[in-house]
Amino acid sequence: MRKQIAAANWKMNLTLQQAEQLTNDLLSTNHKMGVEQLAILAVPFPYLTSIQARLKNNANMFVAAQNCAATKNGAYTGETSTEMLESIGVQYVLIGHSERREYYNETNSILTEKVNRAFENNIHPVFCCGESLNIREAGTQNSYVETQLKESLFHLNKDQMNGFIIAYEPIWAIGTGRTASSDQAQQMHEHIRNVIAIQFGDEIAASISILYGGSVKAANAADIFSKPDVDGGLVGGASLIAADFATIINSLK
Ligand code: PEP
Repeated sequence: MRKQIAAANWKMNLTLQQAEQLTNDLLSTNHKMGVEQLAILAVPFPYLTSIQARLKNNANMFVAAQNCAATKNGAYTGETSTEMLESIGVQYVLIGHSERREYYNETNSILTEKVNRAFENNIHPVFCCGESLNIREAGTQNSYVETQLKESLFHLNKDQMNGFIIAYEPIWAIGTGRTASSDQAQQMHEHIRNVIAIQFGDEIAASISILYGGSVKAANAADIFSKPDVDGGLVGGASLIAADFATIINSLK
């Protein structure tokens, strides 16, 4: 059975002390996870080791980096390589978040390189895709997302795609308080699974976890996650409140 995942994206928020407090608060909430359920906390780079140490007794909780370099190593001041992430035990990395695509000009071909670097260092990518409001209003969101997947993931082999994690995040719903309806999420997730099935086969398509992101809150998570092709969420704002994120974890199927 494919994994059901609650992923937190803390973005560029919190001091170390606040991040540690949030983690302690989350660990002391009444959250429950089965063997096929995971919580992944995408925390700022400087906090990866500290938060990871706090999660070590929780078999289903992991940290993720929020980004990685497209290059292996060398003279790239300020970048963080997947080799570095692997060396500190990080197992997940967000790739292609819309904020990185928009503010740092990350194109589908740059993201291909980042995905490749992640696999070279045994790190699971959490690959983000999703359309802007203009594209949604023009009704071309399906082909837009399909192109994002084709250009960054279709070179991978079946082993790499088995159990792969995709986060569908319509940009118009990120941080805006405007959530896609659970039916809109289901429609796009079904489309993504079909696109993957055509390229990699039904078995691989059934194995991938497709997370919805965009103003997921404690109050709407259960409805969104109840849809058959929605395998959890990537959560920004609400992941900064321990009790809310615990409710979101408990809303996983
Ligand atoms: C995100 O940052 O990926 C996100 C979905 O943010 P929010 O939940 O705040 O909309």
